[in-house]
Amino acid sequence: MDNPEVHAVVIGGGPAGILAVGALLEQNCTSIGWVAETFGAGRLAHYTNVPANTKVKHLVPGFTTAAQSSKIAEDPRVVQSIAAIQKTAAEEWPLLSECAEVFQAFTEAYRRDMRFRK
Ligand SMILES: Cc1cc2nc3c(=O)[nH]c(=O)nc-3n(C[C@H](O)[C@H](O)[C@H](O)COP(=O)(O)OP(=O)(O)OC[C@H]3O[C@@H](n4cnc5c(N)ncnc54)[C@H](O)[C@@H]3O)c2cc1C
Repeated sequence: MDNPEVHAVVIGGGPAGILAVGALLEQNCTSIGWVAETFGAGRLAHYTNVPANTKVKHLVPGFTTAAQSSKIAEDPRVVQSIAAIQKTAAEEWPLLSECAEVFQAFTEAYRRDMRFRK
């Protein structure tokens, strides 16, 4: 495309959409059209007291790597939300609400970093 208004379009504000935006930001693409009904981490946020199926010891490195590669690892809400998960023992499973909070922190940081079009 010559002179496109945006370089990429992502549809959906759930984990898949959030990580797609992160992957684009990782490639220094900040001209993204992100279209979502809500920016609340998708279905994960609906199941507040359900334990996640991934242990803390596996989730934290995943979230940390994603935050580092998309350059939001120092965002205060991102730091705080990952630290909250680490209060649960490494061999245990965090609540989905805690995972949703990390994804919501990512969303907030990404939306600040990109040229946002609803
Ligand atoms: C009880 C339960 C427990 C679970 N536990 C885990 C777990 O432990 N670990 C795990 O990884 N997964 C778990 N899941 C699954 C997890 O919820 C999904 O894998 C995840 O939410 C999928 O993310 P997604 O972004 O693909 O879709 P969604 O979370 O469904 O997000 C899609 C978003 O896109 C929006 N959207 C859709 N179409 C459009 C459109 N045309 N325009 C604009 N917006 C649109 C929707 O409104 C929604 O917000 C669990 C699910 C349930 C029900």
